[in-house]
Amino acid sequence: MIREVLTIGDELLTQISSPVQKHEFGTKELHAIITDLRDTQKAKTGVGLSAPQIGYLKRIFCIEYENSNPRYKDLIKEPQPFLVLINPVITPIGEETTLLEEGCLSVPNYRQKVMRAAKIKYSYYDYAGNFIEAVACDFLAKVLQHENDHLNGILLPLRVGDTDYIKQF
Ligand code: ZN
Repeated sequence: MIREVLTIGDELLTQISSPVQKHEFGTKELHAIITDLRDTQKAKTGVGLSAPQIGYLKRIFCIEYENSNPRYKDLIKEPQPFLVLINPVITPIGEETTLLEEGCLSVPNYRQKVMRAAKIKYSYYDYAGNFIEAVACDFLAKVLQHENDHLNGILLPLRVGDTDYIKQF
């Protein structure tokens, strides 16, 4: 179901989301949240959407994009198939950073450049509770870091002038 995307000023967007518990994996409730995330992200042509943005304070986000995404057409080099990440953990690899423009469905009509780790290791659980680890760089690394911020109640404007980002992990 397509949900309303909460926008800046909504208290829920500043909260720290809770981890998904073991007994919640593979349930109908979890599936419903994932379906809502996917439907809503597609409807808004986002490249990622986190559960708190649609009002669920759970550590879940999804990503998915085509090269032709109108919001980020010049930045996307490789398409990303639908992926849902549950209880993700992101760790920068090395000290290299990139400064690229970002937008956010929860901060309408706003863009800013944000310093992010250029390369990251990320781990997460899938819907069934399988543990997965991978490495990302470029646009994918940036999207993962942006969505992960939402799980910690951090919205894009809080990253203004944030050149010490890596040190904050
Ligand atoms: Zn966002």
